[in-house]
Amino acid sequence: MRALNRSARGVFEISVYSREQIRDAVIAATYGERSALEVTEVMGRWGYEANRTKAGEGALCLGCDTEFRPLSSDAPAGFLIIMPFADRSMAITTGICVRCFACEDLDDVIIQQLKTIWPEAHRLPRSGSA
Ligand SMILES: [Zn+2]
Repeated sequence: MRALNRSARGVFEISVYSREQIRDAVIAATYGERSALEVTEVMGRWGYEANRTKAGEGALCLGCDTEFRPLSSDAPAGFLIIMPFADRSMAITTGICVRCFACEDLDDVIIQQLKTIWPEAHRLPRSGSA
């Protein structure tokens, strides 16, 4: 985590991808699109690790205790991916279950969870927004 913080220099790109967007990224990656390659590499690593875990030790949903098991019906509906702008070789990712992904306040859930890692985490308004 320190290496990630150091390489990020305090600035991260935080993205939420649906399963469909991950599928599209896989297709775009076959054409060499850089950001799609980054996303598919992170997803590949997440899948590899998720498939190695035992029941009760699997990856949990960002917002609840849903455990993601290989080939289960509780596959993530989406993923949160955090990458430093300055160093794209590192990332943090977590699955998001169907129920949490459908929450209208998913952004608030994400910020709440990020504050457990980075207490000062907050959402910045995008340029052009009020
Ligand atoms: Zn959940």
